[in-house]
Amino acid sequence: MKSACLVTFGCQMNVHDSQRMEELLRADGYSFVDDPEQADVIVLNTCSVREKAEQKLRSEAGRLKRLDALLIITGCVAQQEGERLLRSMPYIDAILGPDNLHELPAVLRTLEGGAPPQVRASFDTDAPQFLVHQADTSNTPVSAYVTTMKGCNERCSFCIVPYTRGPERYRQADDIVQEIQRLALGGVREIVLLGQTVNSYRDPSVPMAADAHPDESQFAALLRRIAHEAPSIRRLRYTSPHPRHVTPDLLRAHAEIDVLATHVHLPVQSGSDRLLKRMIRRYTREEYVTRANALRAARAGLTLTTDIIVGFPGETDEDFASTLSLVDEVGFAGLFGFKYSPRPYTPALKLRDDVAPELKQERLLALFEKSESQLRAILATRVGTRQQILIEGPSRPGAKTLAGRTLHNEIVHVPESPQATMGSIATVEVLRANKHSLEGRIESIDFAGEIAQVPSFRRVSLPVVSEGA
Ligand code: SF4
Repeated sequence: MKSACLVTFGCQMNVHDSQRMEELLRADGYSFVDDPEQADVIVLNTCSVREKAEQKLRSEAGRLKRLDALLIITGCVAQQEGERLLRSMPYIDAILGPDNLHELPAVLRTLEGGAPPQVRASFDTDAPQFLVHQADTSNTPVSAYVTTMKGCNERCSFCIVPYTRGPERYRQADDIVQEIQRLALGGVREIVLLGQTVNSYRDPSVPMAADAHPDESQFAALLRRIAHEAPSIRRLRYTSPHPRHVTPDLLRAHAEIDVLATHVHLPVQSGSDRLLKRMIRRYTREEYVTRANALRAARAGLTLTTDIIVGFPGETDEDFASTLSLVDEVGFAGLFGFKYSPRPYTPALKLRDDVAPELKQERLLALFEKSESQLRAILATRVGTRQQILIEGPSRPGAKTLAGRTLHNEIVHVPESPQATMGSIATVEVLRANKHSLEGRIESIDFAGEIAQVPSFRRVSLPVVSEGA
């Protein structure tokens, strides 16, 4: 049997794409190994959203070139660099952009037949294709990503995604709902809807009203359909929404749909109006705060997490102080913080990357310190409360404890129990707060999970980052 090793860099979209590529290759007779040294085919699914991730790809590819295996580069760097990558790294056998991943099995067959290295990196804007879970539902996890759209029309000045993933294209709502129903039959209990700006979703099969605003979103309608037509889905999350598409309709959905998580990851990027404008985020600090508060008003106890860039060109001490004060004001339960790095093709390249690396690092540490202390304070408030968790599996391989998530997306570790199978929903009493998680004991099983398998993630080389919105 042929073996493959899949290494994933970057965001949730890449994790989803890697899972789908794994399914395609398994259907083509491949088994999977974690060690590239044991593989006949190595796929590096790349990320170019930050310079560091791109550098990591280059060093990983260089390290692997000595192996007697086909080396395939997929994802955003593949799209961004295309032929150039092949010229600079001639030991690569194929390059596939995000819209060409479904071609992987066919490409491998041609390479095995002696075909020369090849590049496939074209956007499928005329007839968009979406990678979906395979019909075999025997290996489904408790929680599954489902894609709703791809690409992005926002063009934030720092972001390469519109260049590597193309313009927005949406899946038909019928297809999304049917995929979720199939996953639910296989035991999936939580769906995470994916899209670069997931809440700008529009159903391409529903004509827009003549008087509709061109930005009008049908995302809330999609959430309602999923909750109604896939009732055994117990948790519904989405990532990443753009603040400017937090519509009254979406707020109503949060108020009315029980299975919708009481947590939203709402990227803000900066707390300074001056920088938000330079970033072309198309909202002000005040508008962001208003929408964050509206989400909380819609659903009691809703927590928010965010993405923040430090050291964006022209960021002054005052701008950064505004960001810290926003973190205080909103009271985020967590954040992904990043140091700005110039990316090719982006409008921000025209701005001078003028914040010293040491200052970027200093600001990032200050941001993390604030975020950690806020998370600790929020977790401390959970001690002594009762929370419902969806049990995802062992806390870590071989552990005697199970891990589940609350509706707020907080991890709770509980002792093993024969009734608490994966996919069960349990009420737990929270006994202790750790730095990033909670510990508790199960009081009751509210919904018995069906047998579901541990998701078969392949190696993820970098921490998963939030790319999008
Ligand atoms: S940051 Fe998000 S919204 Fe902005 S261009 Fe990138 S993917 Fe689109």
